[in-house]
Amino acid sequence: RAKADGRNCARFFDPSMQDAADRRAAFEAAMRDGLSLGQFRLYCQPQFDSLGRVVGAEVLVRWQRGDRELIGPDQFIGFAEESGLILPLGEHILRESCRALARWHLDANLGRLKLAVNVSVHQMRDPRFPAAVANILGGTGAPPERLYLELTESVFAEDMQEITGRMHELCSQGIRFSLDDFGTGYSSLAYLKRFPLSALKIDRSFVRDIGVDAGAASIVEAIIALARKFKLEIVAEGVEFEAQRAFLFDGGCSSMQGFLLGRPMPIADFEHAYGTAGIGHA
Ligand code: C2E
Ligand code: MG
Ligand code: MG
Ligand code: MG
Repeated sequence: RAKADGRNCARFFDPSMQDAADRRAAFEAAMRDGLSLGQFRLYCQPQFDSLGRVVGAEVLVRWQRGDRELIGPDQFIGFAEESGLILPLGEHILRESCRALARWHLDANLGRLKLAVNVSVHQMRDPRFPAAVANILGGTGAPPERLYLELTESVFAEDMQEITGRMHELCSQGIRFSLDDFGTGYSSLAYLKRFPLSALKIDRSFVRDIGVDAGAASIVEAIIALARKFKLEIVAEGVEFEAQRAFLFDGGCSSMQGFLLGRPMPIADFEHAYGTAGIGHA
């Protein structure tokens, strides 16, 4: 009888929907396997001060799915958020990032760098997140003051009190927050006052158009001025051309990242490139 019902239902079920559901289930299973197999790898993109000295790095996750081509975060972060996998994935990324910070602490060059980790709004919504972070910091021995969590403006569409409360809990552990892709989302200048932020990241769409349209250049200058008023650090992202770097330098932008200056690379390569020789790597 149940079987007959099942068959009945199937008649009204669009087979293409079944395909899509199967594909999602398979993708989710592959991601779970990938997590337990350690296929989610940390890449690091260097960040530089206006004089070109490396001052930090941003962690950017990639999925090395077996022998396949490397998969970028735009291909799986959204899915991870919908499926809830973002919580274990985010925790993995944070733990590996903190392990790196703890290693770096022992190296004269790397020990001075800050490390920025992207955090999803879903992680910020989780009441257990601050305790999980405290756990990771304690377990790895990472210096919390080197860790920056990057949030996008989408967190400000959430319950303000809940999010600010959680940010304060994390800040009390010594961690700092950056606002990523600034100027592209739910921008309200009120947020700059209400949330405990330490840095603004100028979205790469504005940097891209610096030489192309005067409006973008003005926006970049305005964001730098705003950051200065609010005593926030500023990081420009997506610097690809010398003219963009020069414009940002002249405008007093204190730090930047982009393909012109350094590409995202496996964390071991980053340590090799920017550390003193001899930092051990298993
Ligand atoms: P994002 O945080 O704004 O990261 C910057 C993105 O710009 C990265 O793309 C980086 O590779 C790329 N990029 C850096 N410099 C340049 C440049 O000069 N030109 C151009 N065209 N692009 C540049 P990626 O690695 O594909 O990451 C895309 C987004 O995925 C990130 O944007 C971030 O929102 C998200 N993401 C990456 N890693 C994580 C993670 O560990 N957790 C979470 N929740 N999200 C992540
Ligand atoms: Mg980011
Ligand atoms: Mg960004
Ligand atoms: Mg982005």
